[in-house]
Amino acid sequence: MIIPKGSKLSPEQLAEVEKIAENFDCSILEIQGHNRCVYAILGDESREVMFKRIAGLHFIHRVDMIESPYKLMDRRSGLSDHSVKIGENKVGSVAPFIIGGPCTIDPDNPNLFLETAHALKEAGVNALRGGVWKPRTNPYSYQGDVKALEIILQAREETKLPIDLEVMDGEQLKIAHEAGVDVLQIGTRNALNYSLLKEVGSLTAGSKVSVLLKRGRHMASPNEFIAAAEYLVAAGNPNILLCPRGTTPILDGYRNHPDESITPLLKNRTWAPVIVDPSHSVGHADFVKACSIASIAYGADGLCIESHIEPSKGIGDDPKQAITPAVMKELIDACQMVWSNRYQTDF
Ligand code: PEP
Ligand code: MN
Repeated sequence: MIIPKGSKLSPEQLAEVEKIAENFDCSILEIQGHNRCVYAILGDESREVMFKRIAGLHFIHRVDMIESPYKLMDRRSGLSDHSVKIGENKVGSVAPFIIGGPCTIDPDNPNLFLETAHALKEAGVNALRGGVWKPRTNPYSYQGDVKALEIILQAREETKLPIDLEVMDGEQLKIAHEAGVDVLQIGTRNALNYSLLKEVGSLTAGSKVSVLLKRGRHMASPNEFIAAAEYLVAAGNPNILLCPRGTTPILDGYRNHPDESITPLLKNRTWAPVIVDPSHSVGHADFVKACSIASIAYGADGLCIESHIEPSKGIGDDPKQAITPAVMKELIDACQMVWSNRYQTDF
């Protein structure tokens, strides 16, 4: 990891660094953070001579060798002061960042989504979510419809809130990216799809687009989750949101095993904001508020919550796990109270 003295290397300086790296069969990847660029050495970086030559250049501040399977995501990396911005908000700065909206946008009833979006804005959410394409366990369940993209774009236009939606393959990725979607979600089923992660990272490299990476429900290890995020950053996009959303259920009663308690571990090991998804964790609207409050107490920077103006009219997960905008308002107030009084960790 190369940290320049200035905020960015000039093309000539970059060429000089690249030339040294090439002599050692390595290449250089520029990663654009909000405050400055850092440069990752790709290849076998454990060459002392290469390190010394690069570190000796007058425009280089430091070269760090981070012994970690996720050297860019690591808190000790040059990206540790990178902040992720969605719209005008720096995630995790003054209040929990709340993403809200239905599991699935009903393409035949646009008003349900639009009314939900306005009610959620009133309730205080910071971004809207809604499924356009859906990963369904049952192949005969509703799979999504590109028509829903127009609806969420219209909601953004009307509410001025940034939007988040899931993409599952390269084709959907291109459509969503061209439409200017602010946050691309990689769901639990694709959380280990390394080809897709690389594609998302490189297509959005250097842009303002954020990626909300859900934790795979089968993932036992926090490091495996962080390494998946590393793929996105190593492909060029450091705007990462880590999203625990429950793992394989071991409690009879919850949809998944709530894993908000992983938050301090993630914050201890990485610099990335943590946005917990309580809806898929517990899978039942009545338990979402408790899981949200617990997540904030654990140090989460925000929440991604399924919400629908009339859950019983929803499709996908909405009838069972979406909360109403009125409950969302209560939940945001309760979370804000916990946020303001929570123990300040200093990892
Ligand atoms: C969703 O957000 O609606 C969804 C399908 O998420 P997950 O990948 O967590 O199941
Ligand atoms: Mn859902």
